[in-house]
Amino acid sequence: MNNLKLEKKINKYLKSNNIKDISINGLQIEGKKNINKIITCITINNLIIKKCIKNKYNTIICHHGLLWKNENLNIIGIKKKIIKNILINNINIYCWHLPLDIHPKIGNNIILAKKINVNIKKLPNKNYPLIIGYNNKKKIIKKILKLNIKFKFIKSKKKKIKKIAICTGKGDYYIEKCILKYNIDTYITGEISEYKIILSKNYDINLFILGHHNSEIYGMKTLSKKINKKYNIYTKFINIK
Ligand SMILES: [Zn+2]
Repeated sequence: MNNLKLEKKINKYLKSNNIKDISINGLQIEGKKNINKIITCITINNLIIKKCIKNKYNTIICHHGLLWKNENLNIIGIKKKIIKNILINNINIYCWHLPLDIHPKIGNNIILAKKINVNIKKLPNKNYPLIIGYNNKKKIIKKILKLNIKFKFIKSKKKKIKKIAICTGKGDYYIEKCILKYNIDTYITGEISEYKIILSKNYDINLFILGHHNSEIYGMKTLSKKINKKYNIYTKFINIK
């Protein structure tokens, strides 16, 4: 498939153009026109690029890419090295960040919620990229254990879970907003600062910290399968933390 055509199709499906994001979503670096094999991953890194070159892939789709609006725009140092390697080897780099977190069907939040059997009350949107739902505490713990990932659980004194918020990735910003706006008693996220951990203790809520990468595997895995099935392009999801 043509590289610009693929970008258009995924942008349309993920409604990327309507979503404000610090990431530049879509085709970040243009490589070969014709896409044959795609590596999908969470965060682009040197190891992924090496694998791409060695195994003759010409495209990488990631969730955390190389171009962020809040970063320095200079292409110097390690960034120059990485981008030079990508350009010389004619690799397409696509990135979908927030559009892949909040998508109502294949987003990181929704798939994690379904995997741990959260009964969904509110879907993520541009303003609150998170799921609100409920489930019982023991069942949630069992389901998270089944994900087979290391996680941290900071317990509340409350016996029952009545309302859960799930915010994959870095969940710092929304924790207090969720407590105040949605009256949640449980917060499930990827990564959180020490200050917000203390905050959750002060509010006495349950806090599950799954790890940034671990909480964001499912959206990309699903997108990877979807591209393979819908456009008949070989895709391989590589899970490098
Ligand atoms: Zn993330």
